Amino acid sequence: MIRLVTLDTLERETLDKLCRIVFQAYGLGCELAGELQVPKEALKGDSVDATVLLERAPAVKSFADDKILYVTTRPFLNRELPSGKAPTPGLSQYGGERAVVSTHGLPGGEALLKRLAKQVIHDIGHLWDLHHCLDPRCAMYAPWAPSFSTGEPILCTFCREKSEQRIRMAKT
Ligand SMILES: [Zn+2]
Ligand SMILES: [Zn+2]
Repeated sequence: MIRLVTLDTLERETLDKLCRIVFQAYGLGCELAGELQVPKEALKGDSVDATVLLERAPAVKSFADDKILYVTTRPFLNRELPSGKAPTPGLSQYGGERAVVSTHGLPGGEALLKRLAKQVIHDIGHLWDLHHCLDPRCAMYAPWAPSFSTGEPILCTFCREKSEQRIRMAKT
């Protein structure tokens, strides 16, 4: 189960649709777990330090193999990336439990859902140890590549199978 926690107010309809896309990608239930506050330590002015947030965000009721996805509308502080210092819309604890995504800087309207879902699938993938993928159509493709902001929020066959394997392992 993936538990989706909002840190600011987001449209319910978008969140429901987001959950459905995540379910399609991973074959796992996704549930809205409520709204929480960004922990004070993670706030830097109007921005959020995503690393601190993942460490300090309050937990929600979850079970051993659950993953928690936090969603915020605030911008993240810039991070060092292979492409230089840049804001990133997502961060996850590799092989861990928590991921966070920001809608800041993503397109609005109809395009938001697709772009946000792609980021969410990407960061949840890292929670199951998925690495970046070489298939530019896959949501696990390097997110700093310009083509990442277009295309469908889906996994390639290889990443889908790998994630299924990891999910099965987590359950045993
Ligand atoms: Zn990544
Ligand atoms: Zn892939």
